[in-house]
Amino acid sequence: MTEENAMSGGGLGLELPGNVRDFTERLPGVIFQFHRGLDGHMHFPYLAGNGTSLPGIDRDALGQDARHMLDRLYDDDYPKLMAAIERSARWRVPIATKFRIRLAHGRTRWVALRAQPEDAQSGVLWYGLMIDITEQMVEEARLRRLSDTDDLTGLANRRKLMVRLAEEISRCNRHGSPLSLMLIDLDHFKRVNDTWGHLQGDQVLIELARLCRKLLREEDTIARLGGEEFAVVLPATPLVRSLPLAERLRHRIGEHPFGIEPGQITVSIGLAEYRPGEPRDVLIERADRCLYAAKHQGRNRVES
Ligand code: GH3
Ligand code: MG
Ligand code: MG
Repeated sequence: MTEENAMSGGGLGLELPGNVRDFTERLPGVIFQFHRGLDGHMHFPYLAGNGTSLPGIDRDALGQDARHMLDRLYDDDYPKLMAAIERSARWRVPIATKFRIRLAHGRTRWVALRAQPEDAQSGVLWYGLMIDITEQMVEEARLRRLSDTDDLTGLANRRKLMVRLAEEISRCNRHGSPLSLMLIDLDHFKRVNDTWGHLQGDQVLIELARLCRKLLREEDTIARLGGEEFAVVLPATPLVRSLPLAERLRHRIGEHPFGIEPGQITVSIGLAEYRPGEPRDVLIERADRCLYAAKHQGRNRVES
């Protein structure tokens, strides 16, 4: 949109004095009018602000056709924004959403959008603003990662495991897909600490996490529940497949040197397959009972 257009409101009868234009061009964001015609055509009759929200996007072109911005939205975000516009147009409720825009050189910006709809003769007209929230989103993602991660091993922590397990259980109940849960506990780990020291014990836990990551699939969630106890959520995996997997894991751990000597570190594993409709805690309890049985039957074994 040209300066003149921005000043005149793109011919919508918005006469903005020069000092208002100075003001809008200093805003750390974008203020706009967005119009959707009865034929579905969308454009920005008014767009002002120097904000970094839409860098590299031709504002003149947006004055003609909003596609120049919409085409750059992430695939996931496009239908979300379209649905928000539709809902807002239908019920005359404000839009409050955020989306990602693809920029040149593979860069991405997060944009927050707020807009208020009004009836217009030839469709709906929104008054709104957009601001760049990329930094907040990056920080949020960092904090989320932090609160989901075990410090020592970098694996998911107990909190994250519980969330993942609940997600997988609801998927099971919807689609009837199988699901296995594995609980792993190191055998006589107190002895390991007593013999080689607590720091070496920590190294064993880190190495065990690495080994599990290597042996399991990307979509399996491996978590440290605390201490020397780990859990693995195995989506789309019935017991007939998780049982040999657990045995292989137990073997590989048993023969791994762990910087001490092979055979010093072994694990007991409790394994349970999800039963449709069963609450999460009942599944965990069954896997835990199997782990307890594995310990009682001599350790370094898998029970299911
Ligand atoms: P078992 O499970 O075979 O019955 O014997 P265990 O010796 O492993 O039993 P228990 O669960 O009672 O003890 C776990 C020990 O793990 C206690 C503690 O010294 C050690 N441990 C827990 N967390 C950590 C940790 O973060 N680092 C180290 N080095 N050791 C830990
Ligand atoms: Mg334990
Ligand atoms: Mg133990």
